[in-house]
Amino acid sequence: MKPTLQMDLNKIRNNTRELVRKAKEQNITVTGITKGVCGNMDVAQTLIEAGVDYLADSRIENLINIHSLPVEKMLLRSPKLSEVQEVVQYADYSLNSEITVIKALSAAAISQGKTHKVILMMDVGDLREGLWFEETEKIYAVVKQILQLNGVYLAGIGTNLTCFGGVIPTEENYGIITKMAEKLRTDFSIELPIVSGGNSSCLHLLYERAIPRGLNNVRINQAIFLGTELAYGKRIDGWEAHAIRLQAEIIELQEKPSLPQGEIAYMNAFGKPISPIDKGIRKRAILAIGRQDIDISGLVAIDKTITVEGASSDHLIVDVTDSGEHFAVGDMITFHLNTYASVLSGMASNYIDQVVFHEVL
Ligand SMILES: *Cc1c(COP(=O)(O)O)cnc(C)c1O
Repeated sequence: MKPTLQMDLNKIRNNTRELVRKAKEQNITVTGITKGVCGNMDVAQTLIEAGVDYLADSRIENLINIHSLPVEKMLLRSPKLSEVQEVVQYADYSLNSEITVIKALSAAAISQGKTHKVILMMDVGDLREGLWFEETEKIYAVVKQILQLNGVYLAGIGTNLTCFGGVIPTEENYGIITKMAEKLRTDFSIELPIVSGGNSSCLHLLYERAIPRGLNNVRINQAIFLGTELAYGKRIDGWEAHAIRLQAEIIELQEKPSLPQGEIAYMNAFGKPISPIDKGIRKRAILAIGRQDIDISGLVAIDKTITVEGASSDHLIVDVTDSGEHFAVGDMITFHLNTYASVLSGMASNYIDQVVFHEVL
């Protein structure tokens, strides 16, 4: 059997409901995100059932996939100049930081008889996308130009943190954009309804009710699937961990020494030095999955006595000596996915079947 990645819709629904409840109490809208699951339709539907206000993805292909769903959609990654027509067609909003792109969006929207909604991104320190927050003159010049375009509506401003520089959202750096929104509203006499923050690293602020007043939208992706927030890696109260798990098949099951025998190369096939520990003779299973299928960093066997020893391109080696189960070749072993890298790579893998299921909570 192909390895399968199984998405538990009940856990995803539960986590999203908890998020929506917490956000609604503070008059904050929620953007549910499908990029971690490659625009999966069932997950997208589940997010809507759980009450998100918008759906978002970083790739237009994924938004096209979920186009029929009855909720407004946002493109998270700045549109490519070469895709503005599709963006206007399939996304109600896009997050932007380049006036060239915004002008092209406006022209595309006019040609389609539409108005496209733009959220202008500000960089308050993380150094991924956005206009640098201290460059007030440039920000004002860009806003002025956007307001002169007939095909776009400046729906808001936003910021993103912890994605490149690892900077944690705080009342201070979120405060920069809430204050900026106030100033822009006054100085340009505009509505600017949305002030969007977050990703999964802002959940501690949401739970401490420390999101500055005025920030009224959060965009949340990986926490829904992992059950942990991103600033400190903590479990979130009331949220389910491990909404996504993986199964792979045993193709070899043998007892072998735990120390390699022979002269040892300076590195293994993946550039990592080898540092095995002598644990004597161990029962090891080889599973038909490897680094070409998935980033193995987050694989943790549900049976806690099973340890992941390593992997090459097509083989995952696990130690099953201490497991109470009597495995045989052909059996499946199930893993939780504990890292976003594992979720992302597994979801995008052609070698893995992606399926949904509902576990009773
Ligand atoms: C991916 C992304 C998010 C969500 O990030 P998570 O930390 O995975 O929740 C939010 N905003 C933007 C712009 C993104 O690209």
